[in-house]
Amino acid sequence: MALTVEKYEVVSVDRAEVLRYMGYAGQRLTDELDARIDEVVARCLAVARPAGAWEVFEVAGREPMGEGVPSVQLAGASLRLEGESIQKHLAGAVAVGVMAVTVGMGVERELRRLSLSDPVAQVIFDAAGTTAVERAADACEASIVAAAHDRGLYTNFRFSPGYGDMPLSAQPVLLATLDAQRKLGITLSKSLLMTPTKSVTAVVGLFGEPQPSSHASCSDCLCRDFCRILRTGSPCWKR
Ligand code: SF4
Repeated sequence: MALTVEKYEVVSVDRAEVLRYMGYAGQRLTDELDARIDEVVARCLAVARPAGAWEVFEVAGREPMGEGVPSVQLAGASLRLEGESIQKHLAGAVAVGVMAVTVGMGVERELRRLSLSDPVAQVIFDAAGTTAVERAADACEASIVAAAHDRGLYTNFRFSPGYGDMPLSAQPVLLATLDAQRKLGITLSKSLLMTPTKSVTAVVGLFGEPQPSSHASCSDCLCRDFCRILRTGSPCWKR
């Protein structure tokens, strides 16, 4: 399957998620802060340019790396997914969706500007950017779910380098696999941090049988707003 590059429309974010990323846990907000949050979130969505790149690769092997580190190899890609956690996540998978998303440099530039001029707005904007890039990741995951559905396969949830024992050292090859620097403008520092910072990489397993974590209901599915198969009347969980 070929590399797909897409733009996404993220027109709203979950306010509760923004508050959670800001560190709020049910405290009462002043009217002033309440209004400020709405204003800054709207600004973040206005400058965000959510986009993603993804490709599905067949699983080519599961040979351990040196010193017995578990590893999943992909056909036609030099990306090797290492560690116990990803081995478990992809146990039984026949293919793997590899994805990268970002909300773009506009959000990054605004974050830097606010860090010098308006610390309160910076905290809100940072949380809004994180929420927005997760929405972009939901949109990209929806595309992978649809590609799996077209093949009669089921997906589990996205899993990112840095989760469990999957090393961040997977990032350079993962991003190169998706040509993410050219297609999305994502670069990596020597310490493996992405710029724009509001970017996400992940892998999703594709399986012949439903998994305990497969999408099972459209009503509470995070991919719902971006899902093309929902409109066909034959959702991913109904075969
Ligand atoms: S919205 Fe429904 S059909 Fe679409 S991915 Fe979610 S569960 Fe599947």
